[in-house]
Amino acid sequence: MRSKIVAGNWKMNLTFDEADELVNDMLDRLDEEHEMKCEVIVCPPFPYLEMLTDMEYEEQKFNVGAQNCSAYDKGAYTGEVSAKMLKSLDVDYCIIGHSERRKYFGETNEILAEKVNRVIENNMSPIYCVGEVLEEREAGRHFEVVKEQLEKGLFHLDGDAIYDAIIAYEPVWAIGTGKTATPEQAQEMHAYIRQLVKEHYDQAAADDIRILYGGSCNAKNATELFSQPDVDGGLIGSASLKAEDFVSICKQASKLMKD
Ligand code: PEP
Repeated sequence: MRSKIVAGNWKMNLTFDEADELVNDMLDRLDEEHEMKCEVIVCPPFPYLEMLTDMEYEEQKFNVGAQNCSAYDKGAYTGEVSAKMLKSLDVDYCIIGHSERRKYFGETNEILAEKVNRVIENNMSPIYCVGEVLEEREAGRHFEVVKEQLEKGLFHLDGDAIYDAIIAYEPVWAIGTGKTATPEQAQEMHAYIRQLVKEHYDQAAADDIRILYGGSCNAKNATELFSQPDVDGGLIGSASLKAEDFVSICKQASKLMKD
């Protein structure tokens, strides 16, 4: 059975002291949860990565991911952060292609394919985000849009590398809006994505790959979303900024995992 993953995306929030407080609160609460079986990933802004990777080693309760990386390897690219730098801080995951990066920073599927390559070359796992905007869903184009995002940005990976990837389905109309996809809508798209993985790779890759749901997932709706057969956990935005809510979501994911 695939293990569940709960990944928190802090986005561009929190001062250093607030981040420190949040992670300590989260660790205290995780301590109380002896049955935490799901994998927990925390994705803070770049300046806080080292604080979190240090704590990760001490506490062994969560893994650390970045929210983005450069498409370039190294060199004269002022303001960029390379995948190699992230790896040198012991970061193991990197979100690639979040809809906010696609929308506000012009990241195309072609740029994202390069970022995925840098992440894989540096032995990290990309959390590759896909999802349609409201107009695309209303026009019945959501499957087509997600297929193109996957085919251009992720499915160039060879058979072995795809095993390192995680996919996050995040309908853009559900991100930060309080409007969650129904469990049926999430399941339908996750099953479709898994079928695409089977067609491009094989049954083993399709059975193995973790597909997370993201978009207004919170402590109230996590169980019903995560109980869908093809939903392997969540990518959590706002609710990851409250330790109580985030740990509750992790606990719900863990409960759904059989011994
Ligand atoms: C996200 O930004 O990845 C996300 C899922 O945000 P929220 O949970 O706030 O909708």
